[in-house]
Parts: sequence; structure tokens; C-alpha cells
Amino acid sequence: MEGHVRWARAVGAGHRSDSVPFRRSRRERAPNCGGLRPEDGSDGPCQGGGVRAARPAEHPRRGQGADRRVRPQDTAQVLQGLAAVLARLHFEDEAELFAHKAWQTLKLEPPADLARVAQRLGIEVSDEEFVPEIDGLYLRLPDAPPVIAINSIYTKPPARRRFTLAHEIGHHLLGRRAPSASKLFFFDTSRTGRTTVERACDRFAALLLMPEDWVRRYYTELAFNPQHRVRIMAERFGVSTWAMRRRLRELGLQASAYRR
Ligand SMILES: [Zn+2]
Repeated sequence: MEGHVRWARAVGAGHRSDSVPFRRSRRERAPNCGGLRPEDGSDGPCQGGGVRAARPAEHPRRGQGADRRVRPQDTAQVLQGLAAVLARLHFEDEAELFAHKAWQTLKLEPPADLARVAQRLGIEVSDEEFVPEIDGLYLRLPDAPPVIAINSIYTKPPARRRFTLAHEIGHHLLGRRAPSASKLFFFDTSRTGRTTVERACDRFAALLLMPEDWVRRYYTELAFNPQHRVRIMAERFGVSTWAMRRRLRELGLQASAYRR
């Protein structure tokens, strides 16, 4: 049942959840019986109140057999949902693979040297002052090196800038399969939509900045200091305490009960 719910939620991502076939509404599961059900708790006819039992074939909402048929538009929606799920899994797999490769190839240590990662990929990185809403952008034009610009204004703390840089590197790696003649442009704000690609870039950034084996190592090393563990780990990885807590939760590790 739980798996079905997850599937329904996944397929429903970006689509109306009621497009999932065979999902039954609350009204269908509990036909109006005037609030009176058999004492034995069965799903049998209603009693009293003068309300007749709502047998499936006789229920006014069920008698419309045409509603139960799978319509072409339903099938198309399910297929679109399935394609979205597969795309998400594909991008997240790619994100994990790229992050793992970066650590293995460059033999990184915390805090990950993002400038070195970008340089290795031939990306030109610069700090620019944008309006506060913008975190950063990634631009790739034909016959020109890819460019990442990070908003350097004072409202963006260094840890946030690092996450944004890692996120933009994710755009570069996930976009490498796009034809080289095509233009790629992404700019990220705090309100950027949670599309499949954006989620995958966040995933890549988290893994690039906080790889699992290092996180677990530090987590164990700092077991004697649970009050300050998240803060110390955040400093070691060069991320915000918010990002650190989130990563710990992902890995099933308990963050300190003391929030700073
Ligand atoms: Zn983005």
C-alpha cells in the first residue's frame, strides 16, 4: 500500500494526482450511508435513517460505467508521469555518478575545492554583483567556454555561494549531453522552480560538497561533541548548518538537538 502511494505521488508529480488509474475517491470508498454503518464494521448496507444500502452497481456515482474506463487522455497522462519519473531517476543517477567521479578523479578532501573542479571542467567562474534575488547563473554558448557567475553581494554568505557554485557545476555536467551547438542558460534564484533538473543539480551539489563517506567519518569522530557537531561539520565542509542538517537527515544520522 505504501508503495502504491509513493507510486501515485511520483506519477502525479507535475500532474493531477487523480489521473492515476483506479484511484478511488473518499466518496467511493465510503458511500453516503447517513453516518450509520453495520455494527460488525463490515462494508455492508447502511442501517436505519431510511437510507438504502449503496451497493456498488447501484450507487449513483458508480453507475456511470464510462467513468471507470481508461480514456486515451488518462493513458497519455500516466505515460507522461512515467517519463517524468524516469527522467528524474536518470538525472539523479547522473548527479550521483558525477559527484563520485569528481572526488575520485581529483582526490578531493573537505572542503571540496570547487574552483579546481570548475577549472578541470574548463568552466570560467566569476563573482558578479546581481540583484539580491539571483544566486547565480550558468551559460554555455557554442564555440565559447562555459561560464558560471555567482552573486557576490554581501547578502549571500560564503557557504551559500559555494552551494550555488556546486549547483551550477551540476548544470554544466548534466547539460553535457546536449548538442554542443545548442545554447544552455540557467539562472537560479531562491524561488527557482523545483524542476527535475534543478533537483538533480541540488542533489549533485550536496553530494559534491558533503560526500557520504566523509560525512560519516566526521560524524563519528565528533560523537563526543553532539552539541556542536553540526556547526563544526558545516565549517569543515564549507556549507551552511541548514545544508549540513539536511544531509545528515538524508543519511539517517541525527543532527544535534541543540540548534545554533
Ligand atoms: Zn539551477
